[in-house]
Amino acid sequence: MPIYNEVTLAKELIRFPSVTPTDAGIMKFLAKKLTAIGFKCKILEFKEKNSKPVKNLYAKLGTLQPNFMFAGHLDVVPPGNLKDWTVKPFNPSVKKKHLIGRGANDMKSAIASWVVAVSKFVSKNKNLNGSISLLITGDEEGIAINGTKKVVEYLKRRKEKINFCLVGEPTNPNKLGEMIKIGRRGSITGRLTIIGTQGHVAYPHMANNPSNTIVKILKKLKEIKFDEGTKNFQATNLEVTKINIDNSADNVIPGLANATFNIRFNNKHSSSSLKKKLNAIFKSITKKNKSKFKVEYMVSGEAFLTKPNQTTYMIQSIIKKMTKIKPKLSTTGGTSDARFIRKIAPCLEFGLVGKTMHKIDEAVSLSDLKKLTNIYTNILENYFK
Ligand SMILES: [Zn+2]
Repeated sequence: MPIYNEVTLAKELIRFPSVTPTDAGIMKFLAKKLTAIGFKCKILEFKEKNSKPVKNLYAKLGTLQPNFMFAGHLDVVPPGNLKDWTVKPFNPSVKKKHLIGRGANDMKSAIASWVVAVSKFVSKNKNLNGSISLLITGDEEGIAINGTKKVVEYLKRRKEKINFCLVGEPTNPNKLGEMIKIGRRGSITGRLTIIGTQGHVAYPHMANNPSNTIVKILKKLKEIKFDEGTKNFQATNLEVTKINIDNSADNVIPGLANATFNIRFNNKHSSSSLKKKLNAIFKSITKKNKSKFKVEYMVSGEAFLTKPNQTTYMIQSIIKKMTKIKPKLSTTGGTSDARFIRKIAPCLEFGLVGKTMHKIDEAVSLSDLKKLTNIYTNILENYFK
């Protein structure tokens, strides 16, 4: 049975130009590597109207319980301006003890570490006291509708039991070992339109300027004190991201005003409780100003928290042992695919240092990569002890 090397495997993965949602053959490649160490692999392709088909992989070793799953994505963001890179983004190379290439950080290297950890673990443990599985998607950096979300539905339909899931996204801000994520804030975007009445700027009494209304509303939104934060979460925060009044004339009161805002919220709220609160504000202010409103909401995820359990603390103590840093249990940052997986299994996220993700010359330190493999190997050994 082959034992893999994390630098070699990370390089091999980076060589596939799998810019979301393009597969470029990478799922098949990984499936082959996993099959060689005993996994049963299923490539799941999903598509929907108006979206490109996406390949995903569910791989499993063993049939017994408990089933420990690792989740991640093999799609990457576009490289940006190629001239700014010091290497070719899909032709990785090592410079100053760092592996550079698109996906080196987010998150092909962490997948390489996990696969190497598994290859080491199974070569020593022929009779596995449970199962190890991988959920790998090609649709995390994009619209995320044909990826993990659909694989989770597939696993649910097959009544596949997952006892714990480790998501390998980069979670550490500066140093390996600083941060485990045990939950994520929710995210909701609102696109608000205020409908007034267009008119001559010299005759405002014959028009209804929606800019007055939208300014009042946005001021009110920013003044809302949603909460003070909780033990595990930052305070809920709203940011206005766009204000737009499309008007080509200087002597016309516009008929419409638009604004977009985003709220990152903790688990004291849900997207529906927030919508209710906001709609009440829109209603009362537009009523007073005799205008109308329209609002469109997009929810990218609800807030969630996995209450730390035995496995969480086991992983935390392994990380502390290997890095000499006690990782914080945090819920900061953006959303991740854990928002889908937590519906079928308790989730925890731990991966590399995220400093260079999505950037030019995305890189991973070779020593971090090796340490991460050791951490993952130790987690497997302890979980199946
Ligand atoms: Zn990622």
